[in-house]
Amino acid sequence: MNNKIYQSVIIGGGPSGYTAAMYCARAGIKTLVIEMLSAGGQMATTSNVENYPGFDEGIDGFELGEKMQKNAEKFGAETLYSEVISLDLESRPKKVETADGEIIADSIIIATGANPRKLGLEGEESLVGKGIGYCAYCDGMYYKDRTVAVVGGGDSAAEDALYLSKICRKVFLIHRRNELRAVKSYVSLLSNTENIELILNAKPSRLMYDEKLHGIELEDTSDGHIFDISCDAVFVAVGRIPNTSLVAGKLDMDKGGYIIADETGRTNIPGVFAVGDVRTKHLRQIITAASDGANASKFVQEYLDSLN
Ligand SMILES: Cc1cc2nc3c(=O)[nH]c(=O)nc-3n(C[C@H](O)[C@H](O)[C@H](O)COP(=O)(O)OP(=O)(O)OC[C@H]3O[C@@H](n4cnc5c(N)ncnc54)[C@H](O)[C@@H]3O)c2cc1C
Repeated sequence: MNNKIYQSVIIGGGPSGYTAAMYCARAGIKTLVIEMLSAGGQMATTSNVENYPGFDEGIDGFELGEKMQKNAEKFGAETLYSEVISLDLESRPKKVETADGEIIADSIIIATGANPRKLGLEGEESLVGKGIGYCAYCDGMYYKDRTVAVVGGGDSAAEDALYLSKICRKVFLIHRRNELRAVKSYVSLLSNTENIELILNAKPSRLMYDEKLHGIELEDTSDGHIFDISCDAVFVAVGRIPNTSLVAGKLDMDKGGYIIADETGRTNIPGVFAVGDVRTKHLRQIITAASDGANASKFVQEYLDSLN
């Protein structure tokens, strides 16, 4: 870092953060990305991304993250590997406190992502990509014509089950209560889809696996009896946790904890933007994260112009 004053500071080096950085830097905005782990964010944890256009053979998510970082840095964006600890969003300029000191910023883009909620069962972590998935749109294709289960009872779980029913031979939808929380239109679609079987009043109690997952053991929540089903994959759709603790009480959020922002990325505080999985949106994917970053850069520029 040459000095600690930037026109745009981007918190998070996932696809939304580095795309915003590329667009900002390419437009001549002095830009810093602060990333506490490694470039790529969530996508860095998957070995095969098949649905990001331009990579017809698929690409390793970690490699794609590195490419996005290089692309942004090629145009002059800088990276600081550090954790952002607190933010002063109201001051002018704004202040970003990191584990390595303070950074001054004219504008801030929050690109801190969201993490899927886990089941918390033994073996879950080691089975990611070997039968455990958190994103039906990302990994559903790997189980074409196979039997899968979705755990959850809300709109996301219903959407996942309906999406998977078009690819997979059979889909179990497992929910711990006696009725789904999903909107009525989904519930009727689910019951009219031949290859979806609802298993209500059941919660996962054990993953059945050797090298790969081959089934899931369930506990009946009404009488406690244990039973199991065979399946090749379990998609966990029990919610996501947006990484918003830094801006809690400062930025407007919806009831799921996502920062309220449309595709401009603008939040309730001028000069503070939110992009990618952390903002309110319909589809949380690499391409929509990248798209958010590109869009927000235009409004960052507009905000910076308004300061002069
Ligand atoms: C296992 C898995 C597989 C997936 N596969 C696909 C796929 O095949 N195709 C697809 O389109 N999508 C896929 N997704 C979804 C996709 O990865 C996300 O939608 C996308 O990464 C969101 O990008 P983002 O930039 O908004 O946030 P993230 O990728 O979550 O990046 C956020 C970054 O912010 C950093 N950060 C957070 N807090 C701080 C802080 N306080 N200080 C500094 N840094 C911070 C984090 O370390 C992280 O690197 C997958 C997700 C997972 C979990």
